[in-house]
Amino acid sequence: MHERGYYDRFGGAFVPEILAATFDELVAAFAAAKADPLFRPHYEAVLAEYAGRPTPLTFAANLTRHFGGARIYIKREDLNHTGAHKANNVMGQGLLVQRMGKSRVIAETGAGQHGVATATMAARFGLACTIYMGEVDVERQRPNVFWMERLGAEVVPVRNGTRILKDAINEAFRDWVGNMDTTHYVLGTACGPHPYPEMVTYFQSIIGHEARRQILAIEGRLPQRVYACVGGGSNALGLFSGFLEDPVELVGVEAGGEGLDSGRHASRLRSADASVGVAQGYRTFFLQNGDGQMRETHSIAAGLDYVGVSPILAHFKESGRARFEAVTDDEVVAAMALTMRQEGLIPALESAHAFARAFAEAPRMKPDEIIIINQSGRGDKDIFTVADAFDDPQWQAFIRAKAAVYTAKEGSHA
Ligand SMILES: *Cc1c(COP(=O)(O)O)cnc(C)c1O
Repeated sequence: MHERGYYDRFGGAFVPEILAATFDELVAAFAAAKADPLFRPHYEAVLAEYAGRPTPLTFAANLTRHFGGARIYIKREDLNHTGAHKANNVMGQGLLVQRMGKSRVIAETGAGQHGVATATMAARFGLACTIYMGEVDVERQRPNVFWMERLGAEVVPVRNGTRILKDAINEAFRDWVGNMDTTHYVLGTACGPHPYPEMVTYFQSIIGHEARRQILAIEGRLPQRVYACVGGGSNALGLFSGFLEDPVELVGVEAGGEGLDSGRHASRLRSADASVGVAQGYRTFFLQNGDGQMRETHSIAAGLDYVGVSPILAHFKESGRARFEAVTDDEVVAAMALTMRQEGLIPALESAHAFARAFAEAPRMKPDEIIIINQSGRGDKDIFTVADAFDDPQWQAFIRAKAAVYTAKEGSHA
């Protein structure tokens, strides 16, 4: 389909010479797995037994009535083990690690969700595990660091650069160069050098294939549009994969943060602030300054603030196969609140981006039209951010009381 991982002018594999043989090995292992008629069924059986697949497709009857437009369905990736679609990718790569006979995995993580998912897989498959995480993120995401360590992973705070996700990725590659024989790098999204965009999409495509089967079984016809949030692009490509050959409109929703005019956002495909460049081993749209310096990004959703984006989605933008939108932090919080009250579902802040855009468009659609929204993860993890956004005084009192306990303990040691 694409020579050496190119999607028109995007993608590629810009890796240090020393890693060339390791990438060849991975490309070969992935090709062999895909060609093995037993591999995909085995992968699906592992996800069924361990992670809870297939996930349901839920008809949102109350939201549909509320908006009076399109029939709204929600694909429930929040019900995967560890609470998001990330399980699909890490379990798939874990099976490849077994086929390659390696004993250790490394991964980058920003918000910590991919780190927790990787640590979970490593525990299950009996692999050593090291997670690279920017020092700033280690401080912001203590609950996930706590779980990764309890799951047996070593969490290494990265002190280079701006000490966030992109710096963690660079550090993970550095580790890999020194440990190629034993180690596989479990990249968390459909970005990075070939074969990662294609491979992560392959594992996440289970979302779209299930959703297509499910909507045909329920409605007997295809949806008009499907919506997914876009961080690196893996849950969006997962959903889109089921409908690529169909007359279905694919809508990717990015983090508009405080607005596209504010400079405080993470929109690489919708805003005019991104430009094409090569970084982190591949060519895509990056949020960068004229001299190639990466810009600071902002989103209320920690999982959507990466500076790059999948080369496959960059290609879809240029070819027109998908449409990209951005929504603001405020719209996201409102969409999350409405979904909780109407349907009793708590979407992750990342997923709520897709909900927010779908809610803006659904009322303008006809009652016999159908949309599917991907609920990429569950929102329980966002309690700190959401409680702040709702300015809940009881919550603030609770946090103060907790803090007072530790202050008193410190005092008694002094
Ligand atoms: C990590 C994450 C995302 C963003 O990653 P993609 O690769 O763009 O899917 C979105 N939603 C949730 C719940 C996540 O954990």
